Amino acid sequence: MNFSWQTRKESLRQMKTETFDVLIIGGGITGAGLALDAVTRGLKTALIEKRDFAAGTSSRSTKLIHGGLRYLEHYDFALVREGLRERAELLKIAPHLVEPFPFVIPIYQDSRRNYDHPLLVRAGLFLYDLLAGKYNIQRHRRVSREEALELAPQLDPRGLKGALVYYDGRTNDSRLVIEVLKSANAHGAAIANYVCLSGFRKDAQGQIAGAHLHDELTDEAFDVTAHSVINATGVWMNEVRSLSTSLSDDDKQLRPSKGIHLIVSAERLQVTTAWLIPAIGEKRFYFVVPWEGYVNIGTTDTDYQGSKDTPGAFESEAKQILQAINAYFPTAQLELSDVISAWAGLRPLISSGNTNQSTTAVSRKEEIFADEDGLISLAGGKLTTYRLMAERGVDLAVEQLRQRFGKTANPSRTTELVVGGGLIKPREIEDIAQQIAQSEHLPLATALHLLHSYGTDYERLLDLMREDESLREPLLPSSPNVAAEVVYAVRYELAMTIADVLTRRTRIAMLGSAMDCVHNVAALMARELGWDAQQRSQQLANFSAEYQHEYKLS
Ligand SMILES: Cc1cc2nc3c(=O)[nH]c(=O)nc-3n(C[C@H](O)[C@H](O)[C@H](O)COP(=O)(O)OP(=O)(O)OC[C@H]3O[C@@H](n4cnc5c(N)ncnc54)[C@H](O)[C@@H]3O)c2cc1C
Repeated sequence: MNFSWQTRKESLRQMKTETFDVLIIGGGITGAGLALDAVTRGLKTALIEKRDFAAGTSSRSTKLIHGGLRYLEHYDFALVREGLRERAELLKIAPHLVEPFPFVIPIYQDSRRNYDHPLLVRAGLFLYDLLAGKYNIQRHRRVSREEALELAPQLDPRGLKGALVYYDGRTNDSRLVIEVLKSANAHGAAIANYVCLSGFRKDAQGQIAGAHLHDELTDEAFDVTAHSVINATGVWMNEVRSLSTSLSDDDKQLRPSKGIHLIVSAERLQVTTAWLIPAIGEKRFYFVVPWEGYVNIGTTDTDYQGSKDTPGAFESEAKQILQAINAYFPTAQLELSDVISAWAGLRPLISSGNTNQSTTAVSRKEEIFADEDGLISLAGGKLTTYRLMAERGVDLAVEQLRQRFGKTANPSRTTELVVGGGLIKPREIEDIAQQIAQSEHLPLATALHLLHSYGTDYERLLDLMREDESLREPLLPSSPNVAAEVVYAVRYELAMTIADVLTRRTRIAMLGSAMDCVHNVAALMARELGWDAQQRSQQLANFSAEYQHEYKLS
């Protein structure tokens, strides 16, 4: 099934001429989950996103699918249990994109080097296992000093007593978003990126009856009619709500919190598992996670008041992270020059009103707001719990539709729906990759990359390569990405700009080498999308500016 600029055109035609049961604003993971849930309950569904899908917070997370060990400290047991159950659901419905992964907490003789008393950490891990119950991946265990050093040879051996190992999930956030959206579109949802909501339409009773939209690519304004509208715009929630309702100070509970991540090479920081490293002078830790052949380190957690569209990562923030990492991996001695790329994301936290409370202590539970004019808004929550959050949001929309229009809908069935190319058994991935590598003359790393990124849709990529041998070419000498992924992103994943391909369909921009292949990507996209020379150079200029600002330290 294509999901391309033609699909976008058809979706826009539908939005201009048809009436929808549900219109979803925002194409992050929350909006994507809502679209899939709504359309598979039999509701006529549309979704719009003002930039690209996942361009907001949903491409900038730590990429963990987890219950959140840390939330146990705040006695948020229900939240942790919910996350652990959803972790199991995602391992089932998106097995190509979500994989179990070991996380390690070092234990030192000197109590000041430990995150907390080792007995308390152990008790937390017992509870984590207990809360996961039958959904657990594997029980936590203690490992010796020697084993800990084997897992991370640069770890400071002085006073090291051993470590605790537990399991959580690791994912690729923006690919998860795009795979959920592709599924929603395959079930009939009308979906378009680069369409911004600029206002609401109301009926004679003052109830929301649709929206005013703006196509950011053609500069065209148009209206859509919808019986129910769900606002899934994350940190932009209040900007959108205030287009339909005047918000009082009590309503403005959104408290954006900024977190940055750094990417360093796997040679500079040698870890085979994820590590939890205590921050210096703060009661929190940084995750150090092997990811896509590099190491992803993060994150900070600070109140944020700046531009929501373009948060950037600063050298001062990076130094703070590197100081902690170097204290535990002293032979690595990472410097700012080791940071291959860096980016910032904004958590859409829902504040209790207590501004003395640090953002780290604010609950990650989602909130659903139902305004008097019928607008439903969802925010808070986590990538991990998007499916459940979407189910709850659509439940409310269904109730609204029943009361106002007598419309009924089926119960949610997203626990049974495989996401995107997820009809693949994780234990078979290695074997299939071996076969592909052999039969298609591809490096094993490329075959594995294709299977983990696209699941069963790897077949489409192979078809593209069989049709055009040049698409087998690697995009970069040292990465598993191939040229076919650019064509695939345009034809099957609605990529419209260079950043869509390099940042969110593939993750090349986050891994630092985007400028080395950007001309090749532009040429391939120009061929697919019919860009002339001027459009192509405009695209290149746009990408270069965005890349420098959003993926490099300032
Ligand atoms: C640093 C950091 C690390 C994190 N790590 C994890 C983790 O490891 N695991 C985990 O489970 N969770 C994690 N989270 C939380 C998780 O990433 C977020 O909860 C989730 O991505 C929020 O998704 P969303 O769809 O609600 O928001 P977003 O992804 O921000 O999507 C909202 C979308 O709405 C669009 N929009 C805004 N206004 C309009 C408009 N007027 N018209 C149309 N579209 C509009 C925006 O462009 C945006 O794309 C992390 C968050 C941060 C910041």
